[in-house]
Amino acid sequence: MKTIGVDLGGSHVLATLVEDDGTITERSERDIVDRAFDAGVATIAAAIDDILGRTKEKLVTGIGLGSPGNVDLDTGTIIYSPNFGWHDVPLGGVLRERFTLPIFVANDARCATLGEHTYGTGRNKSNFVMLTLGTGIGGGIVAEGKLLIGSGAGAGEIGHHQICGVDGFYCNCGKIGCFEAQASGTGLIRHALAIANSFPRSELVSGKREKLGSKAIRRAAEAGDPHALAAWLRYVDDLSRGLANIIAFVNPEVIALGGGVASAGAFMLDAVRPRVDELTTMVPRGRTQIVTAALGNDAGAVGAATMARRGGLVAHLESGDERS
Ligand SMILES: [Zn+2]
Repeated sequence: MKTIGVDLGGSHVLATLVEDDGTITERSERDIVDRAFDAGVATIAAAIDDILGRTKEKLVTGIGLGSPGNVDLDTGTIIYSPNFGWHDVPLGGVLRERFTLPIFVANDARCATLGEHTYGTGRNKSNFVMLTLGTGIGGGIVAEGKLLIGSGAGAGEIGHHQICGVDGFYCNCGKIGCFEAQASGTGLIRHALAIANSFPRSELVSGKREKLGSKAIRRAAEAGDPHALAAWLRYVDDLSRGLANIIAFVNPEVIALGGGVASAGAFMLDAVRPRVDELTTMVPRGRTQIVTAALGNDAGAVGAATMARRGGLVAHLESGDERS
């Protein structure tokens, strides 16, 4: 069985053809130039058409799509997506008019969690958390073998638990000090900017603030740049605080870190793990493995395809375990 998995990112669409074993055999990527709903749908449809054109359509049994924001799982309507400025847009409905295949839409981070749980570091783990560290922080929780959905499909919005108060950064959601505002890639940039006055000779942010990226800061920190390193240590502390909170809530066997910032790998993990241990108090220490996601940036697309194969995000709660 082959299904199409689509990951709708803030700046581009990735459409994939995914086999039963989670292998991606075709991929089509397109930039999102215009964030208006109609233009977004056109870009998504073009990427799906590209994949269908490369395979026999009859072999494809469904299309899954992961989108940022809060999604009505029954209809595929995006209730609210701050990244795109979308409110109550019928993404699933419009795609169903366009394609004859079954269409399933869910939050992108929950899709990534399903993908990583089925094929990656969450395999055979009953208690598992996935975080995508990019421009924001997406999350998903598997507890006692079940992907948590919540009463309004909002379970797993870990990026919007607050880890500090009035001294924190403003979050896109309107609160101050959210995990996402402090410990996403954007958070790392904000830490570097916030302490820039203490490093008057630093060239990290001089003149080109709008071009300053989290990867550049991380690489400068790895190279020993004092300003970047100070920002990185603040970032690691905030990331660790959020991770320790998750451990207190869920007590997972594994927390997988995906998204662009997690490409820091050992440089990040070696700093985070001991700090998380320090902040883990009532839950037994050292029981949660903190690792980088095995599926990397493909987790969302693979998870969306997995959702399509299972007939929905929720269906896997009762469905048989295909991982064995
Ligand atoms: Zn927030």
